[in-house]
Amino acid sequence: MFLGHFATAYAAKRLAPRISLGTLFAAAQLPDLVWPWLVVAGVERVTIAPGDTAFTPLRFDHYPLSHSLLTVAVGGLAFGAVHFWRKRRRLDALVLGALAVGHWVLDFVSHRPDMPLWPGGPRLGLGLWNSVPATIAVELAMFAVGLWLFHSATRARDRLGRWGSASLAALLLLIYAGNVTSPPPPSSQAVGWVGAIGGVLLVALAAWVDRRREPA
Ligand SMILES: [Zn+2]
Repeated sequence: MFLGHFATAYAAKRLAPRISLGTLFAAAQLPDLVWPWLVVAGVERVTIAPGDTAFTPLRFDHYPLSHSLLTVAVGGLAFGAVHFWRKRRRLDALVLGALAVGHWVLDFVSHRPDMPLWPGGPRLGLGLWNSVPATIAVELAMFAVGLWLFHSATRARDRLGRWGSASLAALLLLIYAGNVTSPPPPSSQAVGWVGAIGGVLLVALAAWVDRRREPA
């Protein structure tokens, strides 16, 4: 899942308006921020296998650290704990931990049974990705609701705040459209590098957008 993860981050702004959108993006994307670096390092494995599911040409062979429920929960706990240690806001820490675990749940819904419960444990997945129309419908609906919640919870400080957040949302939609329509990537290393750099850039952009907006 792609847009669905960002949708939960946007929506969480309504619940925890003092957390930067960049931090919310990072929590909701935590497994996907770690995964590409592990792929590049050869620790986790993905294969370009068009048709593995209808939606993605990627076959996730081995990702016990970035995408098992246990390690994601530990990562979410650590992320929330670091935030609490710095800001002393319990609800915000809980929201960040829940976003990370929510990532696993959404991937569990999307992927075929390749999501481990713990490293080496049983692998689960409901396979939404077996249907392209259903995947797109679910993700677009989630994204629309998330964006609406974000924009009802915040207001722009200036024109940059208005256009910046619209541009970020448009960029996410463009990336999604690119994923859906472009040919399979050339290699797993390419997937890793694009994911690694893209993930960091999106978090940075969201943090910048957040500074141009304030709680409504
Ligand atoms: Zn993921």
